Amino acid sequence: EHPSYPPPTQHRINTKGVDPPAPAFEFEQLKDRYTIPPQVFNNLSKNGYRSPTSIQAAGIPVLLESRDLVAISPTGTGKTLAYLLPLFARLVCPIHQSQDESVGKGVRAIVVAPTRELAHQIYNECLKLAEGRKWRISLFSKATASTLAQKDVRDKMDIIVTTPLRLVAAAQEGKVELDNVRYLVLDEADRLLDTEFLDQTQEIVASCSHTRLQKAIFSATLPAGVEKVSMDMLQDPIRLVVGLKDT
Ligand code: ADP
Ligand code: MG
Repeated sequence: EHPSYPPPTQHRINTKGVDPPAPAFEFEQLKDRYTIPPQVFNNLSKNGYRSPTSIQAAGIPVLLESRDLVAISPTGTGKTLAYLLPLFARLVCPIHQSQDESVGKGVRAIVVAPTRELAHQIYNECLKLAEGRKWRISLFSKATASTLAQKDVRDKMDIIVTTPLRLVAAAQEGKVELDNVRYLVLDEADRLLDTEFLDQTQEIVASCSHTRLQKAIFSATLPAGVEKVSMDMLQDPIRLVVGLKDT
């Protein structure tokens, strides 16, 4: 509990895990506590985001402190921004890695979503938040599969938004290397970790082989069986559940 920051009244946030960081109930608090690229910060208000939702208030600090996260929060509560804001901050300021030559080379962040439509929405959100920065953001889809054959395209990706199958196929064909990925998000994880996609999702997680890979799992619901699978994928995670107060 963090009595100094009363949470938005309509939600309650249940937090589990070792030593969770205090929530930030204003975006300004994030700027004071963490390094956020100024363009990205300014794009928040440009896009009409005045203050964080509950999952953003609790989740963004967890991710900015390089922790693994399971975040369960209802549809429409702003889960996308909860993982994208830290994604962009972590690209600029990889904690613990200032001596690391490999920073800045190859794909460093991946967002996986179960459908094309959702991947497309997330990609659009990325473009809005990244405006003014030069990150190279790729949406993997059927349409882009052929351009991946070109080596110069392949070498110019910082961030990939993808469905599971597209990424697995590209990796199997040697068209994308995942060993420098530091930030992996599974969005709508109830579907990604269900039977239809589980093998592909696990293959992606295994292929992101960097020792400092940070993982975030987001969903509106997480059935017990699926939650076990997700916890097994994570190291020392924080688990956040946002629910309505009266339920
Ligand atoms: P979820 O993934 O939890 O279903 P989304 O990330 O799709 O939710 O966000 C739902 C809507 O809320 C989107 O239109 C998004 O732009 C908007 N939104 C997200 N965060 C905020 C915020 N902090 N302030 C205002 N609107 C927000
Ligand atoms: Mg969503």
